[in-house]
Amino acid sequence: MTCNICGSDDFAAFRGRPKELCRDCGSLARHRIAFAVYEHHLFTLEEEEHSLRVLHLAPEPCLQPALDEVIGPGYICADASPERYPHAECLKLFFPKDFKIFPNGYFDAVLHNHVLEHIPGHFGDHLIDFARVLKPGGRMIFSVPGPYKKRLTEEGGEHLKTDAERLEKFLQEDHYKMFGADFVEFLRQMPGGFVVPDGIKNELRAQLNVRPNKAPFFIWEKHQ
Ligand SMILES: [Zn+2]
Repeated sequence: MTCNICGSDDFAAFRGRPKELCRDCGSLARHRIAFAVYEHHLFTLEEEEHSLRVLHLAPEPCLQPALDEVIGPGYICADASPERYPHAECLKLFFPKDFKIFPNGYFDAVLHNHVLEHIPGHFGDHLIDFARVLKPGGRMIFSVPGPYKKRLTEEGGEHLKTDAERLEKFLQEDHYKMFGADFVEFLRQMPGGFVVPDGIKNELRAQLNVRPNKAPFFIWEKHQ
């Protein structure tokens, strides 16, 4: 097995899963799926007349350098806590209020992995806010924990009083929600665009040491 991000073949076990962690770039299986999705659905957006303008939230150390290299000057990172991402030149932006600095249709792509569950409020409002800053034909490419197909989304973790309550209800102290089948349906119905299948087959998952059907990605394209 070779890491599709950095080319290393040196892997270690992580949280009980063998060969999960790339010792070179630090990627986990879900990051390697992310990079495969970007190769198919992000890097192909580039047109000759302009370089892409891409916003990457919570920029993972294993993905950020590779994205920065491929996308170049139009690549922007942002997070509410940029000190957590010292490897990146990360803008300090609180979502949604600080996103007003971006005009409508500013970005070719917005990338966020395991970000939505940390934002207080309703995920639908957040997806619509992200969609606003996409150009026509632009794409939001993202992932969330789960989603769990046999349950409905639960939100409101920001109203729980303690980390222990959030850990019990949402499986992590700083998670405010858990996504269910209605999340996928909401995205399908979201006005102004459509869902693009991620096209990642289980054979590729196997090559990247991802369990079958795990680490699904969501790609939403804004209508032209
Ligand atoms: Zn690697």
